[in-house]
Amino acid sequence: MESKREVHEFKTEVQQLLNLIIHSLYSHKEIFLRELVSNASDAIDKLRFKSQLEPGLLEGDPEFKIEIALDKQARTISISDNGIGMSHDEVIENIGTIAKSGTSAFLQAMEQNKGLVRPELIGQFGVGFYSAFMVASKVTLITRAAGSTLATKWESSGDGAYSVEETEKPSRGTVVTLELKEAEEGGQDFCDAGVIKGIVKRHSDFVSYPIILDGETLNSMKAIWTKNKDEVTDDEYNEFYKHISHDWNPPLTRLHMHFEGTTEYDALLFIPAHTPFDYFRPGRKHGVHLYCKRVFIMDDCQDLLPEYLGFIQGVVDAPDLNLNVSREILQHDPLVRNIRKNLVKRVIELLSGMDKDKYDAFFKEFGQMLKVGIQHDYENREKLSKLLRYRTSKSGDALIPLDEYVSRMHSDQDSIYYISGEDTATLINSPHLERLKEKDIEVLLMTEPVDEWVAQTLGTYEGKAFKSAEKGDLNLVDIDEKTKDSFAPLFALIKEELKDSIREVRASTHLTDSVACLSGDTYQLSGYLEKMLKSFGQKVPEIKRDLELNTGHPVLVKMRTLYTKDKEDPVLKDYSLLLYDMAVIAAGGKVENPARFSKAVGELMSNALDVETLMTDAITV
Ligand code: ADP
Repeated sequence: MESKREVHEFKTEVQQLLNLIIHSLYSHKEIFLRELVSNASDAIDKLRFKSQLEPGLLEGDPEFKIEIALDKQARTISISDNGIGMSHDEVIENIGTIAKSGTSAFLQAMEQNKGLVRPELIGQFGVGFYSAFMVASKVTLITRAAGSTLATKWESSGDGAYSVEETEKPSRGTVVTLELKEAEEGGQDFCDAGVIKGIVKRHSDFVSYPIILDGETLNSMKAIWTKNKDEVTDDEYNEFYKHISHDWNPPLTRLHMHFEGTTEYDALLFIPAHTPFDYFRPGRKHGVHLYCKRVFIMDDCQDLLPEYLGFIQGVVDAPDLNLNVSREILQHDPLVRNIRKNLVKRVIELLSGMDKDKYDAFFKEFGQMLKVGIQHDYENREKLSKLLRYRTSKSGDALIPLDEYVSRMHSDQDSIYYISGEDTATLINSPHLERLKEKDIEVLLMTEPVDEWVAQTLGTYEGKAFKSAEKGDLNLVDIDEKTKDSFAPLFALIKEELKDSIREVRASTHLTDSVACLSGDTYQLSGYLEKMLKSFGQKVPEIKRDLELNTGHPVLVKMRTLYTKDKEDPVLKDYSLLLYDMAVIAAGGKVENPARFSKAVGELMSNALDVETLMTDAITV
């Protein structure tokens, strides 16, 4: 068969990323080896898993290993594995593009942050392979997928293009060969066996397959999760975390436990310090690695933790597991369910026991996920609600737990008040809070769309009902019937004028200073949620809210007088529109007709100034 050599351009974002990696990670050069060894180890994991059902894939060679070869003369290093390998198309798919959707967001963030590239960010994208170009002027990858006869050679100098051609390879798996750049003055020489041994020890010691150099196995392959806590150092834990998570940052915290009971197992779980960039990418791997007696069974075992704890990385080693179960059956395995239940419990305990600063850092990154948990994990809902934190109208910048809110409630206060919107600055100045502030009542400021669902899902906390400060009546003051009656005709006129935009006009129990605000029914979507849903492209039925007016405000009192004098006065209509626009603006919304609004305000100002000029003139005369 004649072999064809194709030349491809890298996808633009790959080239951008390559440039970034080459120019920004120069002080972390040695990690290229960790990345390539990790890929080799992953490839063997994959083959091991697949060969359980298709033993033929092993081609009679069941001894998994990763080999490193150095050639000082030619200045090359090669890393080979007898893992699953890749087909021609997989090479192009995996090595020529970045299939992960978070990448462009990542690159944008980098653009805005010129010169300040944090290496840990790059690792989160699994661009590990490209790190080879930090040390190599040319990279050649030769691979043959297990069970196939065709091998593929990929080659690039990292300068925009790569070539792919058919080749031959007797053994399955992948060899990556790097033509090394000259070692820098005082820098490490990656052709040197001593240097390589040190790097493997530092970064890849626990890789579970032998990493061999000149016949010597460099790594101890110790399964640190089966050891006692006091036998493992922080560095070892952190390196292990980096290995399984592809995150370059140390984790925020870890949970290492040996469980003995009806069943026995080891678990080593990590909470990352940051939300991975691609966290919300559909199909992202989010699960712990499952082992059985130190033998890798599968990564991304989603049945061991609920989805909302999908940010947790780690390993579970369950010796009693029935190895013949498929992924589908695993879910219903009572042992797996038992482990899952216990892991969730322990994770919640870990979070509850964290010191404040650490927990705040956690909550900033993953609080949203706990809120999702509240909605889905009925069994742990109450415990999760104790982990919630909110800013309030009294907390300043601090996030406080609901217990603290409850402890500060007035003795006659029966509700936990909250208000939701885009940002705390708008919320804290919302007219809806005026009455509550007057009564010195604290209000939770909710700024995530999921918050309102949380409040509704929980319904109550410690027996106190959640109550929206912007919906329904606050029942804090009564407006007497006489006042209501005296405003009724004016309100009817206003309602008639605004009937396309609002449902009702009523005397407000919320307002003390402002003239107007909009409010909904207890069960209506809040304005914020409505806006969010629309921005997600969801169809939301048109919701008409009530216009609440402050009957104690001079404007309303004067309008009432005007109405009594001449209910046909056109000013009343103009002012009705203006009141509505003001309420919309106070809620952080956009007025429907800015030109009309601006004109009306202009006229008002000019009238006000006229009065003043007249008065001044009168004084000077
Ligand atoms: P990541 O390993 O984080 O996915 P990489 O850029 O290092 O990112 O690798 C991209 C993909 O290329 C891998 O997901 C894998 O599918 C494939 N790959 C890389 N190295 C190997 C290897 N040695 N054997 C088989 N496949 C590999």
